[in-house]
Amino acid sequence: MYPRVIVDLEHIRNNVRVVKALCEEHGIRIVGVTKVFSGDPKIAQCYIDGGLTMTGDSRVANLKLQAEAGLTAERWLIRPPMLSEVADLVKYGDASLNSEIEVIRAINEEVLKTGSEPHKVVLMVDLGDIREGYVDYDEMVEVAVEVEKMEGVYLYGIGVNLTCFSFITPDTEKMQQLADLRKRVSDAVGRTLDIVSGGNSGTIDLMMNNGIPEGVDSLRLGESLLFGKERAKYSYLPGTFRDTFTMECEIVELKEKPSLPWGTLGADSYGNKPVFTDRGEHRMKAICALGKQDFDPEICTPLDPGILILGASSDHLMLDITDSDHEYKVGDVVKFELGYFAVMRAFTSRYVERVYTE
Ligand SMILES: *Cc1c(COP(=O)(O)O)cnc(C)c1O
Repeated sequence: MYPRVIVDLEHIRNNVRVVKALCEEHGIRIVGVTKVFSGDPKIAQCYIDGGLTMTGDSRVANLKLQAEAGLTAERWLIRPPMLSEVADLVKYGDASLNSEIEVIRAINEEVLKTGSEPHKVVLMVDLGDIREGYVDYDEMVEVAVEVEKMEGVYLYGIGVNLTCFSFITPDTEKMQQLADLRKRVSDAVGRTLDIVSGGNSGTIDLMMNNGIPEGVDSLRLGESLLFGKERAKYSYLPGTFRDTFTMECEIVELKEKPSLPWGTLGADSYGNKPVFTDRGEHRMKAICALGKQDFDPEICTPLDPGILILGASSDHLMLDITDSDHEYKVGDVVKFELGYFAVMRAFTSRYVERVYTE
C-alpha cells in the first residue's frame, strides 16, 4: 500500500549511539524526544537500545502509547501540561516541563489522591525565545521553594528552550544564566538540583565548541538523533545517517504539460499570488498520490536527482521528471528522503503506512 514511510531502525540506533558518545564527552545527558514520529514505540525503543534512559514527548497520548508498549525509559512531557490532562500525565509520565504553579498544584493533588509516585517537575525559564518559561526569575525561585515543600511532586531541576519560536540561538552567556539560576534555586531550596536541561538540537554546536558551562548537564534531542543534524549551523554530525525516513508514493498521472499554467491567475489557499518558473512548453509531469496532509514538500529530497518537486496540494504532489534518466510509467514508485516536518506529517497522517527495516 502506498504512500508509505520506510523507517531505518538500524540507522536511527547508530545515530543515537554517535550523538550519545558525543554528548558524554561533554558531560551531557540526553532526553530522547519522540514527538517527531508521534511517539511510535518501535522507534522510541531505538533510543533505549542506543543507550538512552530518558525519553520525552509533547503529547500525553504518546506517553501513554509508550507506557502501554512497556518501554522502560523515564518518560517526560516536554510541553507545559494542560490542566485537563493532569490525571493522564501522572498515570503515564514520570516528569514534565512546567511554568504554571496552578498546574503543578493540580499535579501534586492528583498524585496525593491516587497514591502514585511523586511526579518530577522541571521548571522552565525563558531566556529570550518567547515561548514557554518564566521571564520573572524571582517568581521562578519562589515557585521552586513552594514545589520543594509539596509531597506529590519532586523538584527535579530547571530547563530552557531556545531556537523554536523566535529562533534565538543558545550561547555561552545564556547557558551561564541558566547555570546561575541553578545556583539560585539550589541555594533557595537548600540542595542541589538533579538536572539542568539546556535545550534542544540547537545547542549541540555550542556544546561541541565547549561553550556549555558547568552546571548545565543535559539536552532534550529529537532532530539530531533522527537525522544527525544539529540546528545552529544546519550541519550533519560525523558518523550519522540522514536517510532514516524514506517516503514512497505512487505515480497516478504522467503527461507532457507546459511549465506555466494558463488562464486567469487567482490567489492560493493562503491568499497569496502563486509564482511559476518558465521551463518551457514541453515538460514531463508526474502526479503522485501524496499531499501536504502526508508530508512536507519543502523539507524532503527526491532520491532520483533528476526529479524536481514543483509543489503539492493537500493530496496531489506535482513533479517535473523531464531531466530524470529513469523511464517512469504510471504505477511506478517515487522515493523521497524526509526531513523534520515531513516526518512529523507522515506519522500524523493515517493515510501513510509505516514499514520498519532493520
Ligand atoms: C521539540 C522539543 C525539543 C526537541 O527539539 P529538537 O530540535 O528536535 O532537538 C526539545 N525540547 C522541547 C521543549 C521541545 O518542544
